[in-house]
Amino acid sequence: MKYVEEFRQRDLAQQLAAAIRNEVNPGRQYNLMEFCGGHTHAIFRYGVQDLMPANVKFVHGPGCPVCVLPIGRIDNAIQLVEQHDVILCSYGDMLRVPASERKSLLRVKASGGDIRMVYSTQDALRIARDNPGRQVVFFAIGFETTTPPTAVAIRQAHAGGLDNFSVFCNHVLTPAAIQNILESPEVRTMGSISIDGFFGPSHVSSIIGSRPYEFFAEEFQRPVVIAGFEPLDVMQSALMLIRQLNEGRHEVENEYTRVVSREGNLKAQSLVAEVFELRRSFEWRGLGLVPYSALQIKADFAGLDAERRFDMPAISASDVKGCECPSILRGVKRPTDCKLFGTVCTPDNPMGSCMVSSEGACAAYWSYGRFRQPEMPDSEESAA
Ligand code: SF4
Repeated sequence: MKYVEEFRQRDLAQQLAAAIRNEVNPGRQYNLMEFCGGHTHAIFRYGVQDLMPANVKFVHGPGCPVCVLPIGRIDNAIQLVEQHDVILCSYGDMLRVPASERKSLLRVKASGGDIRMVYSTQDALRIARDNPGRQVVFFAIGFETTTPPTAVAIRQAHAGGLDNFSVFCNHVLTPAAIQNILESPEVRTMGSISIDGFFGPSHVSSIIGSRPYEFFAEEFQRPVVIAGFEPLDVMQSALMLIRQLNEGRHEVENEYTRVVSREGNLKAQSLVAEVFELRRSFEWRGLGLVPYSALQIKADFAGLDAERRFDMPAISASDVKGCECPSILRGVKRPTDCKLFGTVCTPDNPMGSCMVSSEGACAAYWSYGRFRQPEMPDSEESAA
């Protein structure tokens, strides 16, 4: 398959691994954060970490749209079904994410709630047209990649006078989240996470381009390399980051040139700007309230905004006790640091969003066998 097989070739992977081994300085550590869950899965699926020298570490970031949505917003979606009797249209990954009171959208559906799994915004529009006597709400989530199709649906509903359709908007923005991580006390002052460089997301960057990363590459003096999702993309990008660090550079470079340009997709950007505007702040799971990190529907399309059409109070809710998703999403912990990983929490019985989503770090560790290491006896016991 063009643009896939070429980027999975074993001999090229071995050559890149050798180039990385030659490039690294054995006297320093390289902590490289992959913001995007797609990269996390590529790293584990293809064993990329195993090809790296011991001093090159991947730090998993918050770039999984299902994982970062706080429980309160899922509770809001459940209230739409239970209290306002709407038909709620949602992407499949959201259905199994645990909400408050041991609920999830799937459980609410099993107990009679009208929740429909959709593959696109167009499915949701069709459901609204087919059910003129019911209110239909599209549960919109995702980063910059999924925002343009939501904008198209809002414009179509507006133009067609589809007044039983609305959107519960939870679209979030990547650059604001990366900046928040770099400004966090764990990175800036406490030193509990060290991040030397970033793999920039691939699909998101196809929309926004590489330019939005230039500010924080300069401001925080961290290199960024926009990386494709195939294993050779990740390895080539790792080599580019390591080179920049060795040369003391902090630039935005683009490995994924077959898709991403500096300017991005201008048509999609203008569509999004027509329908959405920045929210003052938005809560992310793991990151808390992040200023100007999400979108809301503009006043011109207010009639299609579920948050204006229905009474939807802000809900503050805690994660399941013991679930380390918030720390994992900030890169402070790894899935195997969670006591519930692989014991209470598995893909069949997820306790947190990171085990549900196909882009979640816990799901990646589980799917590709990064299980908990056996506990070693401590030195005193060994000596005894
Ligand atoms: S293993 Fe489960 S409980 Fe632990 S952090 Fe991951 S999702 Fe949460």
